[in-house]
Amino acid sequence: MLKFFLTYLLSVLFVSGVSALDMKFLRLRLCVDPAVKYIKGSVTEVFSVENSLLPLKIDLSDSLKVNFVLHGKDTVAFYRSENQLIIPPNRQWTEIDSVTINYEGVPSSSGLGSVCFSSHNDIPIFWTLSEPYGAKDWFPCNQDISDKIDSSFIIIECPEKYRAVSNGNLFSEIVSDSIRITEWRHKYPCAYYLLAVAVTQYKEYSDYVVIGKDTIKILNYVYPERYEQAKRKTWKLAPAFKMFCDSFGEYPFIKEKYGHAQFNWSGGMEHQTLSFIADFDLDLMIHELAHQWFGDMVTGRSWRDVFLHEGFATYCECLAAERGFSSCSDDSQWRKVTVLKACQLKNSSLNILDTSDIHKLFDSRNSYSKGAMVLHQLRKEIGDGVFFNCIREYLKDSKLRYHSATVEDFINAVKTVSGRNLDWFFAQWFYGAGYPVYEIKWQQEHETILNIRISQQTTDSLTPFFRSKIPLMVCGENGEKVFYRLNNYLQDQDFNIPINFYVSTIIFDPYNDVLTTNSIVKKTQFIFDKKSKKKKRRQSQTS
Ligand SMILES: [Zn+2]
Repeated sequence: MLKFFLTYLLSVLFVSGVSALDMKFLRLRLCVDPAVKYIKGSVTEVFSVENSLLPLKIDLSDSLKVNFVLHGKDTVAFYRSENQLIIPPNRQWTEIDSVTINYEGVPSSSGLGSVCFSSHNDIPIFWTLSEPYGAKDWFPCNQDISDKIDSSFIIIECPEKYRAVSNGNLFSEIVSDSIRITEWRHKYPCAYYLLAVAVTQYKEYSDYVVIGKDTIKILNYVYPERYEQAKRKTWKLAPAFKMFCDSFGEYPFIKEKYGHAQFNWSGGMEHQTLSFIADFDLDLMIHELAHQWFGDMVTGRSWRDVFLHEGFATYCECLAAERGFSSCSDDSQWRKVTVLKACQLKNSSLNILDTSDIHKLFDSRNSYSKGAMVLHQLRKEIGDGVFFNCIREYLKDSKLRYHSATVEDFINAVKTVSGRNLDWFFAQWFYGAGYPVYEIKWQQEHETILNIRISQQTTDSLTPFFRSKIPLMVCGENGEKVFYRLNNYLQDQDFNIPINFYVSTIIFDPYNDVLTTNSIVKKTQFIFDKKSKKKKRRQSQTS
């Protein structure tokens, strides 16, 4: 098996003609004036290679011109090919080697808006947002999500009147000849798309979160004209911050900082240690903060694993709502809205095999809303205690922590911690597509027995049946209320429930726990499945 793997790996390397990279360290010096659409940069990248004789392949947009490449003190040859910079080995690459790439140009923006020159209140602003494939638009990099850079120093030169922000800790900020030179140092592993820079006239202030003996600083860089407004909003993140630390383990980048930098994009982006935020909407801040655990500390092994980022961060909004820490004070209402959004797509699957379509990858109805509700249903299936233990174990796994994970790694953690074979759950909700639509009929021939028939259709033939526990609130004529969760494992399934009151109505899914829409409940006479009734009686007699 090992031999086969090595043979396969070597064949891939020789066919592609370039060596696989393992990025160790990056030192980026970026010169930018937000008022002028032009960047100049110099990157030193330290790496190891799989094959010391093959050329190095670096991702870099063709719109940026490479002035020269240094290997040690030598200027070395290179060539460009389809948004890549290919550097043949000057001599054999050493075990740990480095190159310095000097480049400049008018950057072209791609994807979700990877490079932006804009303005606020007539003040120019420059920012980057590389997710998922746009880092190459502003710096030479290895756009392999599973290859984290172990540490990075980012130095930004800009006109004195601006402030420049980036990942990690502020190491130095000096002004020389009207140029402000700011160096940020980040000493945690970081995926290429989570590195970012923003430059504009920022005003700075901090909020603090006290967790036991630790005090975590939340450093905010906001537009001067929005300073008062931002100050009224950002401190509200503290309770959710504390809750995430309690639930998922300490803030992953505790030796550095957490922060926000304001930008004009419509939403937020979870850049490691520094989320970029359009407005300081509490739910948005909660979502981006949650990503520091889900997406940043444990990153998907490939973009197919985007559920591990967006499904989790979105579900954290629900967890915050449960505790009254978000702008939505009713978590049931949060799920109602989320379910309706997810159900707009009748044929969507979380198992996104084609990751080239970024709008599909980041469709908020699927990776986000459906992903969150799948996690909620998992929690209902295995119970709160086990659910949170599963997540903690997944985040604690040294093979995944500060590295990358596949959805299968998460599934394995759930199966190990819960001690249950939940293949059926993930087969329908992750690998499958669509969702169930229920028809629930009920009748009560006698005061003591309630007959319920649950039938379901599904919206996608890939998943013809969803096994689930169906929550029902049975309400009596005299105000009685009894809550049931019926284990639905057959397409058309009958239940006879012992009861001691006359039922007036049955409410399906009263707390919005199930990913379904247009499901109906009706009181109607139907022929109850006597066989199933007898079988159930036999089962209850023998149990
Ligand atoms: Zn997100």
